Amino acid sequence: MRNSQPTVLVLGDQLSTEVGPLARFGPDECRVLMIESTQLLGRHRWHRQRAHLLLSAMRHFAEQLRAAGYKVDMRQASSIPAGVADHADALDVERVLAMAPSSHQGVTALRRAGVELSADERFLTPLDDFEGWNSGRKNLRMEDFYRWQRRRLNVLMDGDEPVSGRWNHDADNREPPPKDGRSWPELPTFELDDIDAAVMADLEANDDIDLFGAAPTGLWPVTRAQALGRLDDFIRLALPVFGAHEDAMLRDDWRLAHSTLSTSLNLGLLHPREVVTAATDAFDNDLAPINSVEGFVRQIIGWREYVWCLYWNWGPAYGSSNALGANEPLPPAFTGDATTEMACLSHTITGIEQRGYAHHIERLMVLGNLALTAGVNPQAMNDWMRSNFVDGAPWVMTPNVIGMALFADGGRMASKPYASGGAYISRMSDHCRSCRFDPKKRVGPDACPFTSLYWDFLERNRETLQGNHRMARQLAAARRLTDLDEVQARAADVRVRLGEGTL
Ligand SMILES: Cc1cc2nc3c(=O)[nH]c(=O)nc-3n(C[C@H](O)[C@H](O)[C@H](O)COP(=O)(O)OP(=O)(O)OC[C@H]3O[C@@H](n4cnc5c(N)ncnc54)[C@H](O)[C@@H]3O)c2cc1C
Ligand code: SF4
Repeated sequence: MRNSQPTVLVLGDQLSTEVGPLARFGPDECRVLMIESTQLLGRHRWHRQRAHLLLSAMRHFAEQLRAAGYKVDMRQASSIPAGVADHADALDVERVLAMAPSSHQGVTALRRAGVELSADERFLTPLDDFEGWNSGRKNLRMEDFYRWQRRRLNVLMDGDEPVSGRWNHDADNREPPPKDGRSWPELPTFELDDIDAAVMADLEANDDIDLFGAAPTGLWPVTRAQALGRLDDFIRLALPVFGAHEDAMLRDDWRLAHSTLSTSLNLGLLHPREVVTAATDAFDNDLAPINSVEGFVRQIIGWREYVWCLYWNWGPAYGSSNALGANEPLPPAFTGDATTEMACLSHTITGIEQRGYAHHIERLMVLGNLALTAGVNPQAMNDWMRSNFVDGAPWVMTPNVIGMALFADGGRMASKPYASGGAYISRMSDHCRSCRFDPKKRVGPDACPFTSLYWDFLERNRETLQGNHRMARQLAAARRLTDLDEVQARAADVRVRLGEGTL
C-alpha cells in the first residue's frame, strides 16, 4: 500500500517551522525531505563561506527537526527533482508538498516533478496584493511602494500619517564617515561545531566544486538561535547608530553599523516581521532614534519586499535585459585574477574574499558603478555576484544587479542610472586618501578611473539617456567639458586596462 503520509520538501532557503506546510503538519503527520543538490553546487564557482553556509544551515535544520520528532530524509541527489523522485520511489510516497521555490527556474522544475506548491510565506507582501497596487501604474517606484507598505502593515504610523511627520529620513542618513575616530559596534561570531567541520571536509574533498575565498570563521549564523542572537545584538548595539552613516565606507571597518542579517533573512532563519517588530519596539522604548529605525525599516519592508515583488512581476526574461548594450567582460580584478591600485575597489574585493560580503554602498557605488560606467555585461556581473556573496539568490540579485546597479532594464526599476565619478566615493569614504589616483582628475595617468569613466559613460549613452529628464543636468555638463576628447581617450585606456587587469 502507498504511503499516505505526505512528505514536506524543505528547500535550503526555507529553514523555518513557522511557515509553509511545515507550519501546518506536526512531526507525526508528515515526513520531511531535504536535498543537497550536487548539480546546484557544481554549477558555479562558489565562495567557501557561501557553500558552507548553505549546507551547514540545512544540516543544522535537519538536526533541529529530528530533535523535535520529525522523520527527516536528508539526501544527496544530482538535482532537487531527482532527489524528489528518489525519495518517492524509496518510500512509495503519494504526495510531496512544498512552499514555492524562490526562483522562476525552481518553480518550473518542481511543478514538473509533481510537487504540490503553496505560496511562499517568507515575505510580508502577498504577490496578489502587489498586483493590485501595481495595476494601472506607469512606474513602480520604491518610494510609493514603501509608503503603501507602511500604511498596509501599520509600521511607524500615527493614524494615516507617518510617525514623526516624515516618511523619509534619507537626508539625515547620508552623512559621510565621522572623523572622530569612534569605534563601531562589535560583531560577535559563533563557534563552529562538528556539523560545520563535516560540511567543510565534504566540500574540500569534492573535486566537482570549485571553491575560492577564506574558510568560514563563524561569522554567518547557521541556526535560528544564532540568527536571533545576531538580531538581538544588532538591535541593542548597532541600530541606534545605523542611520546617519548608512552610506559611509571606511578602510578600517567593513561593517560599520550594518545589520549583517541578509543571510538569515534569505535562508528563512528569521522572518522579516520579527525583524521589523524588533526595530520598532526599540523605537517605542526610546532605544534607537527615528532616523535609524526608519532607515532600517525602509530596507526591510521597502527595498527587500520591493525587489522580491519585482522579480516575480517582471518574469524570467527580465534577467536577460541589456538595455545599454554593455558587453565588456568582467574585470579580472573582480575575480581575484589581478590586483588593482584603485583603493576603494581593492578594499571591497578583499572584503569579499575574506567574508563573502560587502555592504550596500560598496555593492552599488563601487562594484556596480564601475561595472555600469565601464560597460560590463550585466549577466556576467549577475553570475559573478551570485557566487561571491554569502546572501546571493536570483530573486534578490537579479533586480539589484540588472535594474538598480547596471540600469540594464532601461529604467524600469531606477529612475536614473546610479553612475558617479570619484567625487561620490571621496565624500563617502576615506579610501581616496590612500589611493594613487586623484578623484578630482578626469584626464592624465593619475585621473581617478571612476571620474574618467563617468563622463565617458554619459557621452557614450547620450542617445539612450537623453529622454530621461533626471539626466538632463548631467548630460548638459558632459557636453560643456572642454576636454571631452581627452576624457574619452583616458576612459578608453581605463577600460582596456580594466580588461587586462593592469589598473
Ligand atoms: C548590486 C547589488 C547586489 C545585491 N545583492 C544582494 C544579494 O545577493 N542578496 C541580498 O540579500 N541583498 C543584496 N543586495 C542588497 C543589499 O546590498 C544587501 O541586502 C545588504 O548589503 C546586506 O547587508 P546587511 O544585512 O548588513 O544589510 P543592512 O544594510 O543592515 O540592511 C538591512 C536589510 O535590508 C535588506 N535590504 C537592504 N537593501 C536591499 C536591497 N536593495 N535588496 C534587497 N534587500 C535589501 C537586506 O535584507 C538587509 O539585510 C544587493 C544590492 C546591490 C546594489
Ligand atoms: S581615487 Fe578613485 S579609485 Fe581611488 S579610492 Fe578614490 S574613487 Fe576609488
